[in-house]
Amino acid sequence: EPAPPDEPARRLAQQGIQLVQLVYADVLGVQKGLTLPVQQAAAAWDGGVRVDGASLEGFMRVEEREMRLRAGGEQVFVLPWEPGGRVAMVPAGIYTRDGRPFDGCPRERLQAAVRRLDGLGVAVELAFEMEFYLLRRRRGRPEVRVPDRTGYLDLSVRDAGEPVRQEIALALEGMGIVVESVHHAVAPAQHEIDLGWQPPLAAADHLLIARRAVYAVAERHGMHATLLPKPRAGTHGSGLHVRMRVRPAPGSGWSRAAVTRHWLAGLLHHARPLCAVTNPLVNSYKRLVPGFEAPVYVVWGRDTHAPLARLVAGWEAGELEWRAPDPCCHPYLALAVLLRAGADGLERRLEPPPPLEENVFELDPAEIAARGLEPLPGSLGEALDDMRLSGLVREALGDYLFSRYLEAKRTEWDIYRVQVHQWELDQYLPIF
Ligand code: GLN
Ligand code: MG
Ligand code: MG
Repeated sequence: EPAPPDEPARRLAQQGIQLVQLVYADVLGVQKGLTLPVQQAAAAWDGGVRVDGASLEGFMRVEEREMRLRAGGEQVFVLPWEPGGRVAMVPAGIYTRDGRPFDGCPRERLQAAVRRLDGLGVAVELAFEMEFYLLRRRRGRPEVRVPDRTGYLDLSVRDAGEPVRQEIALALEGMGIVVESVHHAVAPAQHEIDLGWQPPLAAADHLLIARRAVYAVAERHGMHATLLPKPRAGTHGSGLHVRMRVRPAPGSGWSRAAVTRHWLAGLLHHARPLCAVTNPLVNSYKRLVPGFEAPVYVVWGRDTHAPLARLVAGWEAGELEWRAPDPCCHPYLALAVLLRAGADGLERRLEPPPPLEENVFELDPAEIAARGLEPLPGSLGEALDDMRLSGLVREALGDYLFSRYLEAKRTEWDIYRVQVHQWELDQYLPIF
C-alpha cells in the first residue's frame, strides 16, 4: 500500500497539477532536477526521492552513493508556460540516505549562513536586479550582433524582445514571484527584471526559477536568452545587482546604523575572494572593466559612478546595493558567501573606509595608489587565487563544496588560458 500523500502533494493534485519537478542547482549553479507524477510526489516532502549520488556532477563521493532530493519548503511554482499549467517546480535540498543535509547541498550552505545571522540578531532581505540579453536566432544559432538600436527604458513596438520581456514578467507574477519592474537595459537587446524583496532562501529559490522562466519564455518565442555577463565587447554587460536591507532584530542591542556600517565593511573587506563565487565565468571578468557602469574597484559611495557598493539612503535606512555579481552566479552559494562576509563585518565590528565621491575612472594611477584603492580581480584565475586563500569563503561553502568548486573552476580557467584566440592571430600574425 502506498503511503497516503501528505499535504503539499495532495493540494497539488487537487489543483490539477500532474507533474512535480524537484529542482536544485549543482556545484556550478546549473539547474538539475527530477520530475515526478503528482501521485508519487508525497515522497518529495517525506523521506525524499532517491537519486544516484555517484552521478551527481560535483557531488560524487564513494561513501555517499545514494542521495535524496527533498522539497525545500512548501512553496511551489506552477510553470505558466507549460500547457494547461499542469507542471509545478519545487526547489529541493540534497540529503544523505539517513536524512542529514548533505555537505555538498548548496541550499543548506545558504541556510547555514542565514542561521549565523540569526544568531547575531540581524535580519537581511534581498532583491535582485537581473540583466540579460534576448538574441534573435539565425539558422538556429544565437546572433550576438544585434540589429536594433534600442536602449535604456525604450518602449518600442519594433523591439522583438519587448513581448518576451512582458511575458516573462507575467509568468513570474503568475508563479508568485514578485516583480518590481521590467525594462529595457542600456545595450541593444539587453533587458532587466527587478525582483521583489525576499528573505535570502526565498530570494535564491526565486532567482533559480526566474532564470528558468527567462530561458523558457524566450525559447517559446524563438529567441535565445542569455545571462552571459558580457556577450558583446564594447557595450554593457549583464549584472546581477543584489540589493540588501539589513536590520537588527528587536532586542539584539545593535543600532540600525551600526549594522549597516559593519555589514558594508565586511563585504568590502572580502570583496576580491567573493568574486570567485559571484562572478564565476571566464567571461565574467570581461564585464568588470571601465566604461560600462560595472564596478572595477573596491569602492563604495552614494552617488559614485560605478561603485562596487552603493548606500541607497542613510545608514539608518540599512539599504545597500552590491553591484559586482552577475546572473551566471550560483544563486545559493553567491548569497551564502555574501551573507557570511556581512556577518564577519558584524562579528569583528569592521568599519568601512571613507566613501569615494569622485569618479574612480578619472583618477590617475598615482592617485588610485595613494588612496589605497584595490581593483577587483582582473580574471577568473586571479579571483580563484584569492578564493583559495580565503578562510571566510571556505567556511561559507564548507570544505566539500569549497574544494569541488575551486577544482572545477581552476580546470575551466586552465583550459581557457592555453587557448589561442582569434584576436591574437588578427593582431600579431601580420606583424610578428
Ligand atoms: N549593466 C551594468 C552592469 O554590468 C549595470 C547598469 C546599471 O544598472 N546602471 O552592472
Ligand atoms: Mg539596474
Ligand atoms: Mg542597480
